[in-house]
Amino acid sequence: MIDPAAELPFFYGSISRSDAEQHLKLAGMGDGLFLLRQCLRSLGGYVLSVVWSLEFYHYPVEKQLNGTYCIAGGKSHCGPAELCEYYSKDADGLVCSLRKPCHRSPDTPIKTGVFDSLRDNMLQEYVRQTWNLDGEAMEQAIISQAPQLEKLIATTAHEKMSWFHGKIPRQEGERRLYSGSQPDGKFLVRERVESGTFALSVMYGKTAYHYQILHDKSGKYSMPEGTKFDTVWQLVEYLKMKPDGLVTLLREPCVNQNNAGQTPAVPALRTPRTNGYTPPPKVPGASKILAPMDRQPLPMDSDEFVSPYADPKELKDKTLFIKRDKLMVDEVELGSGNFGCVKKGVYKMKSKHIDVAIKVLKSENEKAVKDEMMREAEIMHQLDNPYIVRMIGLCEAEALMLVMEMAPAGPLNKFLSSRKDQVSVENVVELMHQVSLGMKYLEEKNFVHRDLAARNVLLVNQHYAKISDFGLSKALGADDNYYKARTLGKWPLKWYAPECINYHKFSSKGDVWSYGITMWEAFSYGGKPYKKMKGQEVTAFLQSGKRLECPANCPDPMYEVMNDCWIYKYEDRLDFVKVEERMRSYYYSISKKPPTEASEDATKPKSED
Ligand code: ADP
Ligand code: MG
Repeated sequence: MIDPAAELPFFYGSISRSDAEQHLKLAGMGDGLFLLRQCLRSLGGYVLSVVWSLEFYHYPVEKQLNGTYCIAGGKSHCGPAELCEYYSKDADGLVCSLRKPCHRSPDTPIKTGVFDSLRDNMLQEYVRQTWNLDGEAMEQAIISQAPQLEKLIATTAHEKMSWFHGKIPRQEGERRLYSGSQPDGKFLVRERVESGTFALSVMYGKTAYHYQILHDKSGKYSMPEGTKFDTVWQLVEYLKMKPDGLVTLLREPCVNQNNAGQTPAVPALRTPRTNGYTPPPKVPGASKILAPMDRQPLPMDSDEFVSPYADPKELKDKTLFIKRDKLMVDEVELGSGNFGCVKKGVYKMKSKHIDVAIKVLKSENEKAVKDEMMREAEIMHQLDNPYIVRMIGLCEAEALMLVMEMAPAGPLNKFLSSRKDQVSVENVVELMHQVSLGMKYLEEKNFVHRDLAARNVLLVNQHYAKISDFGLSKALGADDNYYKARTLGKWPLKWYAPECINYHKFSSKGDVWSYGITMWEAFSYGGKPYKKMKGQEVTAFLQSGKRLECPANCPDPMYEVMNDCWIYKYEDRLDFVKVEERMRSYYYSISKKPPTEASEDATKPKSED
């Protein structure tokens, strides 16, 4: 996870007070010399260390529940950088204003704290247990939704821990501790029956000790007189390292048998998700999570996050061509093109039925169109990513049919233009970050899409986008980095980079250009790029160095990414690794702001002009 202070050259990470003083000494002890370090006691907090009159002053900077930062009694700031900038202009209660940053030397990397790795592990464990994800799917889930996941973890993660026993009386807690072996430090946390507060029970010298976990008005958890934490699990992790007044360090969890199934030593095989036809997985608490009423849906809540073949039972029977009797084709049309139309349907798999979209080839079509669809299928067959529409299979019956995962909320451009006032700018950033993740995957697999546009980004729901329409896509040879088109086709010229138009050279860098146009469409809520200009005019427009204007209310950093996607020479243009990085860091930065500030940034667009 990226620390919001990681970019600051005077941030040292998780160093001790004496290390901080050492650095300041080496830098000359001038008045107002300062550095920032991670706070070792409170998560997400910092300490500002300042020199004045050859003395050291250490000010804890606290991360508040709403996500802002402040020095006790001082003003709130949206990030550590803003806070330091503020105190560089005005001492406002500090011993002096911050005058000279004590920069890290090149050979002093930021020191990662014990909680940094812990937080990553927590995220992984949480995603594994909640959505039954593993490997790449788990990584994608974390990268795309880290801000929301961190919030979820902060509030509910203890419920998933093996040491958490829920609401049980003290006697029952003791009974559980005394059953089996009783090493020192064996512990459990339970919810107290009367008060709903938490208690910690720990074994020492074959005796159970009970401690109340205090929960103060500001929502912090602590042992009496001990360090305060935002969450119960952070407190527990801390008590594994420091006794903080307890009779012993916490060591081995007394495992709650009801939670035990959730913390498998060996990753469990994925169980099928609910889809109307299958019973919900027997994961305690899962029903609550699969039907989120109190939070925004996450991509991982959707069945479409992992391939329907991720279930080994289904994979066994997987074939490229699927049987007609397993497919129900609705009359409902989702869209159409010159190839035919896309219909809604249901595919009957072994243990579940899934909603599908079916591209049906018109029967009167000539062979060339059929070949085209076969090529599209061949490409899709090789792809498997949460942010790309997956192919389920092909079906040859009354017509040739390409069966795909269903993205019920339809194309991004239409969705946005019909819901301008319901979709925040932050929401658009989230979706475009997901698109960049899908494109990064394509780039890595050496595929070029060649038709990336808002019309070909389909939505599963308002918070989940998938790239679709691989009709023009190509797999590049192992040694090629571009595809040379020999024939001109019906090309989406307004989405194409100069080298695609001029030299018919298609690479991932060309897709990056199209990504920039797609971003522009998204941030203008389904606007049409280059209005009424003709293809030729666009080429001249670009050659003269002009570019699409910044859409109304589009955040500057997002327009900067677009412009970097539209660098004329493809050698100098971003690649998707960089695009994704830029999208991610902006997305995280706005998601971490308190709601009021984030929504101020993410004002809804005025009507398109
Ligand atoms: P074309 O090559 O004609 O652009 P697309 O693959 O983009 O074909 O599909 C055309 C339309 O069909 C899309 O704009 C969309 O409305 C609908 N559609 C296609 N695939 C899906 C899907 N997987 N889920 C939902 N709708 C889809
Ligand atoms: Mg299309």
